[in-house]
Amino acid sequence: MCKKTISVLLCVLLAAMCLLPAAAACEATAAAPAGFGEYDHVFIIGVDGAGSYFSRAETPNFDRIFASGAVDYTARAETITTSAQNWGAILTGVSYLQHGLTNEIAGGTERASDTQYPSIFSYARKAFPEAELASFVNWNPINYGIIENDIGVTKVNVTDDAALTDAICAYFDEGNAPKLFFVQFDSVDHVGHDVGSNAPEYVSQIETVDGYLGSVYDSIARNGLMENGLFIVVADHGHVPNGGHGGITMRETNVTLAVAGKNVVSGGKMDKNTRNRDVSAIALYALGIERPDYMTSRLPADLFTGVKGELRNRKNDIGDTILSMLAWIVTLFTKWI
Ligand SMILES: [Zn+2]
Repeated sequence: MCKKTISVLLCVLLAAMCLLPAAAACEATAAAPAGFGEYDHVFIIGVDGAGSYFSRAETPNFDRIFASGAVDYTARAETITTSAQNWGAILTGVSYLQHGLTNEIAGGTERASDTQYPSIFSYARKAFPEAELASFVNWNPINYGIIENDIGVTKVNVTDDAALTDAICAYFDEGNAPKLFFVQFDSVDHVGHDVGSNAPEYVSQIETVDGYLGSVYDSIARNGLMENGLFIVVADHGHVPNGGHGGITMRETNVTLAVAGKNVVSGGKMDKNTRNRDVSAIALYALGIERPDYMTSRLPADLFTGVKGELRNRKNDIGDTILSMLAWIVTLFTKWI
């Protein structure tokens, strides 16, 4: 009797062991979350120094591109509102405390893929070894010191936003179809430094860049790439009233993040915890690339239809968590100075 019971138990155990791999496999092949990997192309258009000011400018192109998209004017920048800290975070999915990039480092140290916190271009390259990947920038340190130089990314540097736009349109009209595409316009930041965010010239420069956005979007769309394309506009930081940035006032830390694509929530506003660094999570998700655990970038709520917002993995970066909370409290007191 006892032996029989043991035999039965062994049989049950064996059966369970046989079933386990099947169950695990079943989990692994369970339906992917909505929107995961549903895009063939992700286009990230960065507007340096524009902060949240798209909301204050006349931007007919931005408005038509995101008419059925999700727009957040209060996405939060890194606690240090400087360009490399923010473009670094946007492209690597970690805070500036972790990626360690400054304008000086990005401008002076050529980046390779053996870095601890690679950019999303590295992940795209691993996932799609043969794919076209491209980055067109006005401010060269992004291409030199933030996006890796040994992974076959097409890189173009043009230090004039109008000429940069022409180069981008020509690139798409030549039939290029990049999986991941990054642009950085720099003219708004220049005007911001010269006259400050209270000046009408600053807002009118955003309106000029709105024309460039329209041209870039149209060149992508007329070449058929928006049918399965995700189009993102993001800013790294804003400007104080008299010009300049680096601090934690609302004008510097509140930035525009706008997303358009086939399953983006029309009229979505994302959630109050959205940060510009979340662009990296959004891009990887859209291309169907698993996000590494160390990243503190995450999917906002109210962005992709049927997709819940994720919690930020704050324990991965306690320093950033504490600094961000302190900065947020200080920012509240600065109001909209
Ligand atoms: Zn600047």
